[in-house]
Amino acid sequence: MPTTLHHTLKTVFGFHEFRAPQQDVIERVVAGEDVFLVMPTGGGKSLCYQIPALHRNGVAIVVSPLIALMKDQVDALIANGARAACLNSSLNSAEVGRVFQQMDAGTLDLLYVAPERLMMPEFLERLGTLKLALFAIDEAHCISQWGHDFRPDYVKLGRLRTTFPAVPIVAMTATADPETRQDIINQLGINNATVFVAGFDRPNITYTVIPKQKPLVQLGSFLSGRRDEAGIIYALSRKRVEQVAERLREAGFSVAAYHAGLPDDERMRVQDAFRKDDIRIVVATVAFGMGIDKPNVRFVVHYDMPKSVESYYQETGRAGRDGLPSEALMLFGMGDVMTARMLIENSDNAERVKIELQKLNAMVGYAEALTCRRRALLAYFGDQRQHDCGNCDICTDPPQRFDASEQAKKALSCVYRVGERFGMMHVIEVLRGSKNQRVRELKHDQLSTYGIGSDTSAVDWENIIRQLIHLGYLAQDFTRFGALKLTPVARPVLKGETAVILGRPRDAVQTVEKGKKRAGGRRDYDQALFDALRALRKKIADAANVPPFVVFSDATLAEMARSRPSDARELLQVSGVGEHKLRQYGRAFLDVIATYVKENVGGTVSRLTDKDLALTTSDTRKETLRLYREGLDLEAISARRGLKSSTIAAHLEELHGLGADVDLLRFVSQEKVPLIRAQLEKQGGLGLSELKEALPDEISYEDIRLVRGVWNGEQRR
Ligand code: ADP
Ligand code: ZN
Repeated sequence: MPTTLHHTLKTVFGFHEFRAPQQDVIERVVAGEDVFLVMPTGGGKSLCYQIPALHRNGVAIVVSPLIALMKDQVDALIANGARAACLNSSLNSAEVGRVFQQMDAGTLDLLYVAPERLMMPEFLERLGTLKLALFAIDEAHCISQWGHDFRPDYVKLGRLRTTFPAVPIVAMTATADPETRQDIINQLGINNATVFVAGFDRPNITYTVIPKQKPLVQLGSFLSGRRDEAGIIYALSRKRVEQVAERLREAGFSVAAYHAGLPDDERMRVQDAFRKDDIRIVVATVAFGMGIDKPNVRFVVHYDMPKSVESYYQETGRAGRDGLPSEALMLFGMGDVMTARMLIENSDNAERVKIELQKLNAMVGYAEALTCRRRALLAYFGDQRQHDCGNCDICTDPPQRFDASEQAKKALSCVYRVGERFGMMHVIEVLRGSKNQRVRELKHDQLSTYGIGSDTSAVDWENIIRQLIHLGYLAQDFTRFGALKLTPVARPVLKGETAVILGRPRDAVQTVEKGKKRAGGRRDYDQALFDALRALRKKIADAANVPPFVVFSDATLAEMARSRPSDARELLQVSGVGEHKLRQYGRAFLDVIATYVKENVGGTVSRLTDKDLALTTSDTRKETLRLYREGLDLEAISARRGLKSSTIAAHLEELHGLGADVDLLRFVSQEKVPLIRAQLEKQGGLGLSELKEALPDEISYEDIRLVRGVWNGEQRR
């Protein structure tokens, strides 16, 4: 193949750089090797077989469990000018015949098939007569009984390796769990596959957990600034789903309910309307799941707590596949925990109960944590991070800390005095000197700890004791109604040898408000232009009967709204615009942008006035610019703003790109400039980390950004 992988990435898909580990994976598959790829949702798994499919001879066979997903993938490929088709039960025999023809004529790059179709003997025979580029197995965890979505049809795929020994297999999954992963490899017989595990972080998702107080009010407050955004609200029961959906409908939201109790065609309708942006919000039980590949889901709300951290991760993971900032909000109420616990304990299978209770406890622990959410979440999957993320409610709105040593001592000794046989509520009653009958009957009003905590409210005690549980001073025995017990580390606290610092619970509404401001602040493009582009996209998509994201992703529209390209060459610079889409839609989008610029900005984009800047850039960049104009240097701006200097450098680079008068080189020592420039010439300015790697250690990310800003400016001229 004469064309390079990068060239395909750019011209077909319109992307400028590979994400880790796409390039490695693609190179191996192109070379004919098997690969097992574990990558979170939205990581970019599709490219890992789509580019090899275009670079290897023959047709690539893609196995996918869901018909709706197949069609979107095929539509998206065709929109990029690739030759793709699918075979599944939704086609009639004439359509099937046409696909067979294309296969035999060798005019297909990719063919999507359902597993049951693929493994039919006649079909395998047909494949035997063709040149095959590769097999791609999407949602590969469906082959494993360990996985959460076992599909018997997938088991037969185990025969592919022996039937087609020379055709490379790419198996992909987002599943986190190591047993399932090993099982997939064994079942598929790809023991020589190179395994890529891309990590589980979803950096563009902001995690927030608030105590559930008045859930509908809290939900309304969260949604009020997000009327135009797509989102999913998960609730535990069908009844709850219906109720919430109804209330939102009354409040004028574009919303539908989805759960397993609805007729099939209604569920299809909802899913389809959601994909096409005709419905903004779906309130659903977990039945609304795998079929959602909509990339522009901007928020996922858990109205009720999910039953495990795995489910939480998977469900929140449906937000922000397109990489744009997205929100995961959970309302956390103790009542829900009790209900969940009761449901679990109803089962007869003791082993199962034990496991599920453990999972539930881990989930509660996450919800109550007063440490960085992302760290807690990733730690659960074995990825221990050293630093707070700066993009969760705890990081951006840290709970106040207070010295709770005295109260901890009181609580722990009270647990001890009641014989480590009572739950939290009883311990609190004793602490607060309750006169209730049970306390008196048990003679707990005669204990030395009776009433020693009457100066603290019951709610505050609950909060303190919960944190003592999370920090490991107390353990809850779920086999005995949650009786509290001391752990070995409680001793030094009781003796007054260790201080206990706890967090104060935060005001839930305030947390949501702050989150909303944060989300608004991060939007660094012009919303009105974005809306105009979105309207155009919807028109084109409806005419072609495809979901809008097949035309362009939100990320691509946002970048257009930010950079406001004025001709085809500039439009091609926008990530997500390949050559085929440029030809198809370029004119229409350029026209909308030009009209907008003429009406709202008045002429050139290249020399920005402050008013103009106000339109195109976010407050945070404006603040950086203001401090820059005061004459502060990078470190000083960074200190004043409490942001990393690399962030400040990124602001300045972008401001410069927008045409603001910023002298980037003021902050780079002169001898570094030629080195960086030489590397830029070589690598073409993309991929900051690749540039950093190629340059001497003393050259920082900031240096590279600043020089790159100048260099990019020259390229544009
Ligand atoms: P997954 O299958 O892993 O959930 P997808 O393959 O659907 O993820 O990709 C998620 C999103 O990221 C898509 O919108 C896709 O177009 C985009 N994407 C993938 N790779 C890149 C890349 N190298 N540069 C920019 N966007 C990318
Ligand atoms: Zn954090």
